[in-house]
Parts: sequence; structure tokens; C-alpha cells
Amino acid sequence: MSHTTQNPEIVKIEQTAHTHVCDCYQCGKCSAGCPMADKMEVLPSTLIRLVQCGEILEAAKSLSVWQCVSCLTCSARCPKSVNIAGVIDTLKEISIEKKCVHPKAARILAFQRAFLNTIYRNGRTNELELVAEYKIRGFLNDFNPLLAMKDASLGLPMFLLGKLHLKIGAPVRDKALVKRIFKKCNKPTQ
Ligand code: SF4
Ligand code: SF4
Repeated sequence: MSHTTQNPEIVKIEQTAHTHVCDCYQCGKCSAGCPMADKMEVLPSTLIRLVQCGEILEAAKSLSVWQCVSCLTCSARCPKSVNIAGVIDTLKEISIEKKCVHPKAARILAFQRAFLNTIYRNGRTNELELVAEYKIRGFLNDFNPLLAMKDASLGLPMFLLGKLHLKIGAPVRDKALVKRIFKKCNKPTQ
């Protein structure tokens, strides 16, 4: 049986992630299976515990939410069917809304924005456009030329291996459909 909560912030997270965080009994299985756990200061099970306790901002401002790669292993393993990955995605949204994104996550956010923008514009990824926007966004954030050039040496080997496509692919035919999907996803939670 699912527990219920009266805390409106927790209810909102549960509705957005379609889950019941209060069902978590802290077995730690999600953290044990997370491929990013050894990089995280706050483990996935601890993030869930913070949300259970109403410490939403404390969870949202942690770097760990941005280190999550959305592989869904945690959600698949949870014996209580808690959608941990969905909760972490919601914490990312909250950290953007509340302007408390961890400073070290700025480049991760820049990459995610650049990726979504290229999908929005073309309906599919466009690698050149993606790399260019990511690098510009990253540089405008920290003005660090070393970081801006960090991946340059990978360009040639990737191109030679056929992993970097210089030809700009045609956008999908039904771009209006892509824009409708984005519009629906941006709809505020009811
Ligand atoms: S696997 Fe599920 S029940 Fe166990 S700690 Fe993680 S969220 Fe809680
Ligand atoms: S979805 Fe995120 S938190 Fe869950 S196992 Fe994957 S990386 Fe870890």
C-alpha cells in the first residue's frame, strides 16, 4: 500500500515523476546498482530520503542530480517501484526553476540545452550544430578557453573512425510535430 504525504512540494514531485517517494524504505539497492554512484557525493537513495523529509532544495542543489545519466537502472531495480530516475529528473527541473544549479553542473546543463535545441530545430541531432552551441554556451558561462578547446584533439580521430558527421543532415519532414511534442513537455504539471 502506498503511503501518502500532505507536503505540497513532495506531492508535486510525485505527480511529475509518477511515483510515491514515501514508499522507499531505504534498502539502498538503487545506490548499489547506480553506475555513477562512485562519483556522487549524495547517493540516489539519499536523494530520495531528502525528498521524503521535505529537504527538496537540499537535494536539488546537489551536483549528484546532474551526474545522473538517466540510465534508469535504479528505477528498474527498486523493490518498491520508486521511480528514482524520474525524481532526479524532477530535481533537475527544480534546480533550474529555483536557480540553484550546482556551479560544477553548468557545462552539463549547457550540453543538455544544446542537445535539446538541436532536436527542437531539426527533429534530430546535428552533431556540428550541437558541438558549436555547446562550446559557445560553455565558454559564455566560464570564459575558460582551455575547457572550450578540451575536446578538440578528439575531432580528427572521431572523424577518421566515421563517428563525426560533418555533413549537415536534413531536418525531419514534420517539424511541426516535433514542436508540438516540445510544447506538450513544457506544459506545467496539472
Ligand atoms: S531501491 Fe527503492 S526502496 Fe531501496 S533505497 Fe532505492 S528508492 Fe528506496
Ligand atoms: S538513472 Fe541516474 S541515479 Fe539511477 S542508476 Fe542511472 S545514473 Fe544512477
